[in-house]
Amino acid sequence: MTDRLDVVAVAPHPDDLEILCGGTLAKLVKQGYKVGIFDLCSGEPTPRGSLETRQKEAEVARQALGVQVRINIDLPNRVLMDGPEMRYRLATEFRRYQPSTVICAAGRTPAASPDHHQGHLIIEASRFYSQLTKWDERFDNTSPYRVPHLVYVPFPSDAEQRQWQSTFVVDVSDTIEQKLASIQAYESQFDAARFEKVRHYVRSYNGYHGGRCGFLFGELFALPHPVGADDLHKLVHGGKGSLAPVQLPGKDHLPMN
Ligand SMILES: [Zn+2]
Repeated sequence: MTDRLDVVAVAPHPDDLEILCGGTLAKLVKQGYKVGIFDLCSGEPTPRGSLETRQKEAEVARQALGVQVRINIDLPNRVLMDGPEMRYRLATEFRRYQPSTVICAAGRTPAASPDHHQGHLIIEASRFYSQLTKWDERFDNTSPYRVPHLVYVPFPSDAEQRQWQSTFVVDVSDTIEQKLASIQAYESQFDAARFEKVRHYVRSYNGYHGGRCGFLFGELFALPHPVGADDLHKLVHGGKGSLAPVQLPGKDHLPMN
């Protein structure tokens, strides 16, 4: 019997999720949730990596974030294509781990790997397939399981990012260093010079999204439906403070608010 996970994040390549939402994953663990990372592919070949190196780096990154479980679905890298077999494989793991929430690396990245968009399609379809009855033999004889919540984490280079609806930002000010350490774990992808550029980029991108909500650093997410609310007051506070304008040290308020 596999232990259930609260949150599972899924992306094509080891290092995608670290860059997209490593701060949030580390924070969820700190908050007491059981978190898993499912990599769809090995991420190899790459110019400077190898299968063995990438596996070791992914494990170091897992430890940096404190995430409890990391598995590789072992789908074909570089030629990842949405299709029934791919969906069966991922849905089988959803049935095993029964997450309450699946975070889906999402969007089209026309200037980067096409695996990203295909992965997005596979994750959405697998979430639907996971609940299907009378097909257990296609899912290694696991039982149907419905994943209650799907959350998108958009690729920064997504071609359609302005179309994301129901966006929200998670405050990762207290886990940004863990996030950077998890990215630095991929030495085969980011040598010292490259990592400095990535560090600058991550701090800028997460600084921008955090700043919009009054956090030092934040990670952007989106929902496939409107944000539901029972208490408007709590919703707009994001669980923090009063209705007064967001305050940053030395500023009256943020110009973009
Ligand atoms: Zn990638």
